[in-house]
Amino acid sequence: MSQGLSSCPSLRGVPRSGTTKQTPRSKEIASSLTSFAPRNDALTNIYSILYRHFGPRHWWPADTKFEVIIGAILTQNTAWVNVERAIENLKKEHLLSPKKLYNLDNKKLAELIRPSGYYNIKAKRVKAFLKFLFEYHNGSLKKLFANNLPDLRDQLLTVNGIGPETADSIILYAAGKPTFVVDAYTKRIFSRQGLISVSATYEETKKFFADNLPRSAKLFNEYHVLIVELGKNICKTKPECDVCPINASLRGVPTKSARRSKLRFKCGDCFAPRCARGSQ
Ligand code: SF4
Repeated sequence: MSQGLSSCPSLRGVPRSGTTKQTPRSKEIASSLTSFAPRNDALTNIYSILYRHFGPRHWWPADTKFEVIIGAILTQNTAWVNVERAIENLKKEHLLSPKKLYNLDNKKLAELIRPSGYYNIKAKRVKAFLKFLFEYHNGSLKKLFANNLPDLRDQLLTVNGIGPETADSIILYAAGKPTFVVDAYTKRIFSRQGLISVSATYEETKKFFADNLPRSAKLFNEYHVLIVELGKNICKTKPECDVCPINASLRGVPTKSARRSKLRFKCGDCFAPRCARGSQ
């Protein structure tokens, strides 16, 4: 998946060892290339730009860890506003607890979560999670989350209807453990920037973030939702590059200053011509 260093758009114009006269500056750059610092810089710079632009997002909006899990299952293939309505229905009936939902009739559950769409399938998925929780962890989220991250992820992925994105959402936002959540926005935005391949898989994309960012649940939490904001409102199917904070922040930064501040990522390299023309 990963692009080779030579094809990374953020490195265009950087002198390479052996091709130009070696200066202290070019040696410094060459040494940073071998440690993959430029990628790291790109990801942390994009994070800072998005955070400055959108501010903290305070995600996930839920009163309890269990509510996060139910939300993570219900949000599959639907807008969040529909999930809110379904959760509200469960709250009104005082059913938002593992035991109460476990004992609830399937049809009644499906009816209550109808606003989230695909309600029969989602009711089965919620029930599958609860069956797993009660069979293997005595109905206790505390016991479930006591597993280390890889074990917890492996276990969640065995549950029918819980795929990688839902599992990672549960691990990050309910368990508070540092796993990066990848979604369609992540793939779209970062492939447009040339940082990942258009055909990168979920696991490849996740690894790219994990390898190039500090392993922090707080950072992963905020970064994912900032990506969602950008993808939902600006870097859409047809991107609005003119109002994009990344574009605005990097455009006009003199190359010299950008290099001095270790800003290897240059917007024009990534966005034109593919993205700015909205062809992706
Ligand atoms: S500049 Fe355009 S293509 Fe690049 S991230 Fe922003 S909206 Fe997306």
